[in-house]
Amino acid sequence: MVKLAENQAKSILKARGIPIPQGKVVKTPDEAAQVAVEFGPRVAVKAMVRSGGRGKQGGVVIADGPPQAAQAAHQILGTTLGDEVVASVLVEQAVDIASEHYLSVTIDPSSGRPMIMRSEQGGIEIEDMADQVESVIIGSDNSDTQVANLAPLEAKLLEAFTELDALLIEINPLVHTVDGEVIAVDAKIELDDSAAYRHQPLHGSIETEQGLLGTDRERKAAAIGLRLIELDGDIAVLANGAGLTMATMDAIVALGGAPANFLEIGGDAYTKAIPALELVLSQPAISSLLVNFCGAFARCDVMTAGVVEAWKALKPDIPVVFSISGTGMDEANEMVRTELGIEPHLTMADAVAAVVQASAKGSQQ
Ligand code: GDP
Ligand code: MN
Repeated sequence: MVKLAENQAKSILKARGIPIPQGKVVKTPDEAAQVAVEFGPRVAVKAMVRSGGRGKQGGVVIADGPPQAAQAAHQILGTTLGDEVVASVLVEQAVDIASEHYLSVTIDPSSGRPMIMRSEQGGIEIEDMADQVESVIIGSDNSDTQVANLAPLEAKLLEAFTELDALLIEINPLVHTVDGEVIAVDAKIELDDSAAYRHQPLHGSIETEQGLLGTDRERKAAAIGLRLIELDGDIAVLANGAGLTMATMDAIVALGGAPANFLEIGGDAYTKAIPALELVLSQPAISSLLVNFCGAFARCDVMTAGVVEAWKALKPDIPVVFSISGTGMDEANEMVRTELGIEPHLTMADAVAAVVQASAKGSQQ
């Protein structure tokens, strides 16, 4: 799950025609004062942290002009809210609130359908107003609400929710101003990182900004929809599925070897075998590669074809060890024999033993 920062969530809403207050994220009291000059004079100064309930903890201060904005920023910056130290504040044109409401879209856990939750009362945590919230499940069934029956703002929010593959979009409070406008004063968006590959560069830019992905290679992998984690060892691992990849790494460690990466090449990732292999092999310490495929729905012959093609294209000068079993294994093993001239191992245990032996650590012993 990727939780967007408030300003990121708000810019997504704004791009979809949902009004938000004008403002900026800043890191110093001086800058906060400048934003009050630009958009104020009255501004809301808000701690940029991902936990909610900032209002109650002094993380939201309404400031009456630039000096007070600087003072408020000074007061908030560096404090700890939830478990985060406040490193920046969002300074926004203050809204003259007539009433605060609540609106969100999430997934109804029992039907798996989008569900709109609305409440006339907002500005407090959803947990504290459960009895006042009206839930509306959206669906194709006659008993469910149709999109046509939603208020325009709700329909917009639902569209954003669906198009972004979001898990939650919440506006709390949704404010009616004294001038009769409707504005999203706070916004929370949670995205599904399983769907990240459908939303590049959105996820890429968010992840980079949030510093979720450490190394250069890890970021490059994320940018092409691969999840790579670099480790300290020298044995590169390509397996399909997170479970098999973990088991393979455990088996390597159990035999005294050290895995160099976590990179599962299941799903349609085998189509990215060349860049995947390139990334893994560009890690400086690599001394051998283990390819471990276990087919069920995933077909070993299809995955192996990707790796064989990549291996022939890159011609790396290190030993490679194969263990392939399950759907399509005969074709896959034959491919490794004829195309690469390598004899695949019959069991994962044999393959792991062989790759540890071939690795830098193994060959020292
Ligand atoms: P949260 O406490 O972390 O959810 O932060 P919010 O952004 O929702 O702000 C909390 C409360 O501060 C809101 O419910 C409002 O009552 C108040 N607030 C936030 N921004 C403004 C603003 O621009 N003007 C006014 N008058 N109140 C605001
Ligand atoms: Mn809020």
